[in-house]
Order: sequence, then C-alpha cells, then structure tokens
Amino acid sequence: MTVAIDIEKCTGCSGAREAQCERICPGGLLVREGVKVQLRGGGACWDCAACVKSCPHQALYLILPWPLGGRGARLYARASATETEWILRLPSGREERYVIPARINQKKPVPEI
Ligand code: SF4
Ligand code: SF4
Repeated sequence: MTVAIDIEKCTGCSGAREAQCERICPGGLLVREGVKVQLRGGGACWDCAACVKSCPHQALYLILPWPLGGRGARLYARASATETEWILRLPSGREERYVIPARINQKKPVPEI
C-alpha cells in the first residue's frame, strides 16, 4: 500500500501550528511545505493509516494493492470520536463503506475463568 496526498483537498491545516497528519505520523514522514503537506521518505511508511484517519478533509488516502480491489482502488477514512468510516473507492467508480467503532468498551467486565 502507499499513502497518497490529494493536493487539491489539502489545506495545510492552515492556522494550526502543526498539521494533524504531521502530528500523528509516528515516523515524522509528513511535513508541511508552504501551504501543502508532502510525504518524505515514503519507503519508511508502514501503512498504519493514522494520517488517513486524521485528515479532516480526506486529503490523504491509501492506494491499495491490486488484489484488494483492482488497480487504482483507494481507501479513504472519515473519523469521529466514536467511529471511523472507511470508504473504499473501486476503479469502477463503486464505493463500499465500513463503519468501525473507535474503541472497545473498556468498562465491559472481563469474564472470570
Ligand atoms: S491533515 Fe489533511 S489538510 Fe491537514 S496538512 Fe495533512 S493532508 Fe493537509
Ligand atoms: S500511513 Fe502511518 S507511517 Fe505512513 S505516512 Fe501515514 S501515519 Fe505515517
């Protein structure tokens, strides 16, 4: 997989001292250049998708390998405090959406063995 940037959608998180994606990338691979962000050293990216979830403008996405959707399939995310909606855009133009709760309910009692 590869992270890609939609430069048209990226606002550079204007006004913020640090862009959302810059802040969250564990490898420090996303860096603002002027008013847009760039991926530096993409070979070090381990496809964790944290940046994809963090962007409020869906300017970041993963390009999926061919077996996972065909050539050019893209995975976008729209995250909130309670869930992440993953949006798979297939080369045919079809979209599939999957909603995943943001966190496991930590208050759920652990069953005794
Ligand atoms: S979080 Fe999104 S809008 Fe902000 S700099 Fe990164 S890619 Fe651009
Ligand atoms: S997928 Fe993970 S490692 Fe790769 S650029 Fe995004 S946040 Fe960084």
